[in-house]
Amino acid sequence: MYIVQVSSELAPVAKVGGLADVVYGLSRELEVRGHAVELILPKYDNLWYDQIWGLHNVFPDLWVPWGNGAVHCHVYFGFVHGRKTFFIESHSPDNFFHRGHFYGSNDDNMRFAFFCKAAMEFLLKSGKRPDIIHCHDWQTGLIPVLLYEVYQNFGMSNSRVCYTIHNFRHQGLAGENILWTTMLGRPEYYFHHDRLQDNFNKTAINFMKAGIVYSNFVTTVSPHHAHEAQTTDQGFGLQDTLHRHGYKYGGVLNGVDYDVWNTEKDPMIPHHYNIETLDTKYANKDALRDRLLMRKTWTPVIAYVGRLDSQKGVHLIRHALFWALNNGAQFVLLGSSPDRSTNDHFWHLKHMLNNNEDCHLELGFSEQLAHLIYAGADMILVPSMYEPCGLTQMIGLRYGTVPIVRSVGGLSDTVFDRNFDSGPLERRNGFVFHNADHPGVESALERAVGLWYCFPDDFRNLMINGMRMDFSWNIPGHHYSNIFEYIRHK
Ligand code: ADP
Repeated sequence: MYIVQVSSELAPVAKVGGLADVVYGLSRELEVRGHAVELILPKYDNLWYDQIWGLHNVFPDLWVPWGNGAVHCHVYFGFVHGRKTFFIESHSPDNFFHRGHFYGSNDDNMRFAFFCKAAMEFLLKSGKRPDIIHCHDWQTGLIPVLLYEVYQNFGMSNSRVCYTIHNFRHQGLAGENILWTTMLGRPEYYFHHDRLQDNFNKTAINFMKAGIVYSNFVTTVSPHHAHEAQTTDQGFGLQDTLHRHGYKYGGVLNGVDYDVWNTEKDPMIPHHYNIETLDTKYANKDALRDRLLMRKTWTPVIAYVGRLDSQKGVHLIRHALFWALNNGAQFVLLGSSPDRSTNDHFWHLKHMLNNNEDCHLELGFSEQLAHLIYAGADMILVPSMYEPCGLTQMIGLRYGTVPIVRSVGGLSDTVFDRNFDSGPLERRNGFVFHNADHPGVESALERAVGLWYCFPDDFRNLMINGMRMDFSWNIPGHHYSNIFEYIRHK
């Protein structure tokens, strides 16, 4: 099949979170399975350009109909670690993708509505007729609308759309003006509960709802979360829409790219290891402590890597940090937050703990340090309020770093409690807690740190169980191939 992925992120060149990893890893897997895969991204000014090979202008004269006129674009092509990627550069006076950031502008809905329109126009004008257009998150929710309401009439009637939701919280709301700029027009038609109208704000268009309504198949990133989103407030108001379209909706667990996340050849860690040479992991622990100026004592290192967002259970992360320091463990945090007050709060903590040799807070984004932390820490904490899939716990498992997680979303599909899991012993790979409060997280931390100190062999078995598990793209790649095959013939 000929598959085009349209996305606002792609690792490593445009990465904010897991979406970037997923789009890269899935594209690679689909190619390995023999499909022809191409990607379309905005040409942001802050792309990680030295990770793109052979970037050159392949379509210098793309005019994208927009509002009352048209916007001139260039389309560049380059390889992102082997992935064939097209980057759309807009020459609109709005400078849609020259903002120094991926998200966070007041007109984000307009920026990505333009991206959708430009991507469709590029496919049309370049003669590309993919069997499958795979779209991701709210930023690309208008693609299936444009396909079925407009572009299918221009000869793109054989393409089908799969739409994957990575985070229900960000849905992309806009006013009627979006209909005019994208030239969809007809507000009386689109402002309808069965089409694009937001389920609560009757004066708004909802991009994510548009994606759900118009796509041929809708997935989210784990089976557990698919159920949560349809039946609880984790659907953030889209539960009814998911029910109505339940016949074409399901969860596919994300994979981890084991080519990138591979303890035997990861170029970002100083000492390579596997199950047989597990003791070498502790050389990475030393390297991590050296790099972060932490003391080398006989204590476990608990780590947190991720966005500092309320979704991630920031209050529990903070509590775990102090719990660790008071209970014989060290704590490493790598994260950043777009929210000013959260950022300020963690900067304050960082200053307060600056001379404490048992912890380190790194506030920013560092791929390199993330790899070293996964390799060097003993445990990785993921105390999320909600977590569609979560990659950090899966990476932790691969690196022999035992996850401590709250039982939500994809965390429930991947981490099985050492003491209370009902499945076979060999699948027990971490510690799970339920209540999103201090006693909840402490109940898991205590068991994890207790086992590390008192029963090191059992702790090691837990590490090995995790390393043996297969959370690669192999199985999800198979599922996505089946979904694509299924919708292609509809
Ligand atoms: P989300 O997509 O909600 O941000 P995931 O767990 O699905 O969370 O994916 C997070 C990905 O981003 C992981 O690969 C993680 O290692 C990486 N990551 C998050 N924050 C940082 C950071 N500050 N520095 C480096 N990598 C980070």
